[in-house]
Amino acid sequence: MSEPLFDRLALIGVGLIGSSIARAARQQGVVRSIVATARTVATRHRVAELGLADQVVDSNAAAAAGADLVIVCIPVGQSGPVAEEIAPHLKRGAILSDVGSVKTAVRDAMAPHVPPGVHLIPAHPVAGTEHSGPDAGFAELFVNRWCILTPPAAADTAAVERLAAFWRALGANVEKMPAEHHDLVLAMTSHLPHLIAYTIVGTAEDLSEVTRSEVLKFSAGGFRDFTRIAASDPTMWRDVFLANKDAVLEILGRFNEDVATLTRAIRRGDGETLFNLFTRTRAIRRGIVDMGQDSPAPDFGRAHAPLAMAPLPRPYAADSE
Ligand code: NAP
Repeated sequence: MSEPLFDRLALIGVGLIGSSIARAARQQGVVRSIVATARTVATRHRVAELGLADQVVDSNAAAAAGADLVIVCIPVGQSGPVAEEIAPHLKRGAILSDVGSVKTAVRDAMAPHVPPGVHLIPAHPVAGTEHSGPDAGFAELFVNRWCILTPPAAADTAAVERLAAFWRALGANVEKMPAEHHDLVLAMTSHLPHLIAYTIVGTAEDLSEVTRSEVLKFSAGGFRDFTRIAASDPTMWRDVFLANKDAVLEILGRFNEDVATLTRAIRRGDGETLFNLFTRTRAIRRGIVDMGQDSPAPDFGRAHAPLAMAPLPRPYAADSE
């Protein structure tokens, strides 16, 4: 990039998402300087050690002061108190944004504190892993992933475009939508799958007295992929479900009805219902791969261990057969 888009980027919270923004923003030269802070001394110390920011400061207020772009990268339940804390220190004309996985509750929590002349433009990069903390981030996290902006109706168009340009520079594809719509879509595509994963792994844990070793040993039968999602940060996900309660309950209601339909089909030996659904769901998977949202590599892209011995030449028949 020839000219940085922002002079001073403030990151409040430097975990997986904040540290990935820091790494990518620096690599792409989209900001002149980065100031960062986190809740605990230990994290602030680690951020300094990793050299993720030009300056690591001790308070959210000190980070926000004088920044052109302030991105709050913390669990969504903290958004309101943090907005209140930094509000008096925000520079006129600054953009205040976040990365929270829920948008309506975050907007409602932050907006009342935002002073006139500061542009509140909430955002959600739909990219992540099950890891947390400043060591977990990487510069490529947002490449070819969506970043959804949910600007309020009265938001300044130039400020929205500037934030969109920032995310595009980090490799993301940007889409804009109302916060309420975002929350319903994400309840389906992200929040419900996490709830299902937490439930399945929790159920297995409850059965663990009988099956513990078998559950772990035979986990490749599908369970293993749920355990990855269910390893996601407990604080973050507690806050997501509390903050997106209505949309999650709406989608969960539909899901429970569909589970009841499948339960009935299995009980009645209704193979046609099962087969038809599985055929439709397979087509959805193909669609996701065709849109470049996942790799078609078998086994979720995991490398296969080489065979212990060279395979027999085809046909496999030995001389005696
Ligand atoms: P994370 O790795 O756990 O990092 C959270 C960071 O927030 C830590 O640096 C923490 O500091 C800091 N923090 C917490 N409370 C704070 C406060 N009151 N003031 C200042 N800093 C505070 O979390 P993450 O995965 O980056 O998630 C951050 C946000 O991104 C969440 O809102 C989440 O919904 C959203 N998001 C996450 C993902 C994902 O897959 N993880 C994807 C998209 C969006 P300490 O370490 O000192 O506690």
